[in-house]
Amino acid sequence: MSLKTLTILGSTGSIGRQTLEVAEHLGLKVVALTANNNIDLLNEQKEKFKPEIALSSEDEQCSSAYKDKLVDIARNSGADIIVTAIAGTAGLAPALAACETGKRIALANKEPLVCDGVRVMQTAKKHGTEIIPVDSEHSAIFQCLHSNSGKNKEIKRILLTASGGPFRQMSREQLENVTARQALKHPNWVMGQKITIDSATLMNKGLELIEAMHLFDISPNQIEVVVHPESIIHSMVEFTDGSIIAQLSHPDMRMPIQYALTYPERTESLTKPLDITQVGKLTFEKPNFENFPCLHLAYEAASLGRRACSALNKANEEAVELFLQGKIGFYGISDMIERAVRN
Ligand code: NAD
Ligand code: MG
Repeated sequence: MSLKTLTILGSTGSIGRQTLEVAEHLGLKVVALTANNNIDLLNEQKEKFKPEIALSSEDEQCSSAYKDKLVDIARNSGADIIVTAIAGTAGLAPALAACETGKRIALANKEPLVCDGVRVMQTAKKHGTEIIPVDSEHSAIFQCLHSNSGKNKEIKRILLTASGGPFRQMSREQLENVTARQALKHPNWVMGQKITIDSATLMNKGLELIEAMHLFDISPNQIEVVVHPESIIHSMVEFTDGSIIAQLSHPDMRMPIQYALTYPERTESLTKPLDITQVGKLTFEKPNFENFPCLHLAYEAASLGRRACSALNKANEEAVELFLQGKIGFYGISDMIERAVRN
C-alpha cells in the first residue's frame, strides 16, 4: 500500500481514537487532528502522532472562530484522506469542505448525509472526491457491491442489519420508564453518547437508512431493516437474481475504518479473526416498529425528502440531549421527532 496521510476531524471520540490505532498499525502519517473537548487526550495524541496541525475549541476565542478553523482544516490540510468523525450535525460544514478537496473522505459522521445528503454527494461528485463509508453497515454494503462491480441497478434490496440495541426485548410499558443510564449500555458496541442513545431508540438505524439511500443512490423502499442481535453480519445486498451477499466479522469498528483507509487494498487488521463455529448460530428478526417508532419516522422522512429528513435529524439531536439530561422520557424522543416530521 502506498503510504497515505490522514486528517482526523473529531480525533478524541470513539471513531477518532480507533482511527489513530489503525493509523499506528498501518504506519500512516497524521497531518491534522481536531477535537471539541477532552483537551488532555488531544495533547496526548499530539505528543504521540506529531501532527502539523491540532485544533481544539480552547484554542479559539469564540465558537464561530473555531468552526471557521475546522472548515479551513477540512479543506486545506492537504492530507490524502480526511476522516470525518465529528458527532452530529456540527460535522456538516467541515464535511462539505472536505467534499471540495478531490481527495478521499473516510466518512463516519452520518448526520451530514441525513440532513443534506444530496448536497454532500453532489459536492463530492463535482470535485472528484471519493467517499468511502466507515459506518459498519455501509462499509459492508460497499464491500458487497464490489462483488458486482458496484452496479446498483442490479440491486434488489439492501438488508440493513441492526443489533436491536439494549432494549430489544422490552415491552412498551418497560420502555416508557427507561433512563439514559440504561440506554448508554449498548450490548455489542462502545460508542459516543449520541449514537448510543440513537441505537437504543433505533433512530441510528433510521439515520443509517437515509445514509444508505444517499451513498448508494437507492430508494428507501429497497432498504429493509433486519434485527440481528449478534452483530456478526454487518449488512447484506440482495441482487436481481435473488443471490444475497453478506459481510461478516466481529463487531469492531477498526475493521471498517481500516478498509476505508486502505481500499481497494486489504491488509492484516487489528480485529480478531472470526471463528464461525465458535459463533455457532446467527439469528434474524423483524424490527418492532410499534415499540420503536423512530425507525418508522425515519422511513417516512426518507420518502418525504430533504426537508423532512433535516427536520427529523434536528429534532432527534435536540431530543437526545433532553433525554440525556433526564428532561424527557424514551417516548418523548419519538414524540418530538413526529411533530417535526409531520409539521
Ligand atoms: P464521540 O462523541 O465519541 O466523538 C465525537 C468527536 O467529535 C470528538 O472528538 C469531539 O471532540 C468532536 N466533536 C463533538 N462535537 C463537536 C463540535 N460541535 N464541533 C467539532 N467537533 C466536535 O462520537 P463517535 O461515537 O466517535 O461518533 C462520531 C460519528 O461517527 C457520529 O456521527 C456517529 O454517528 C458515527 N459513527 C460512530 C460509530 C461508533 O462506533 N462510535 C459507528 C458508526 C458511525
Ligand atoms: Mg452503524
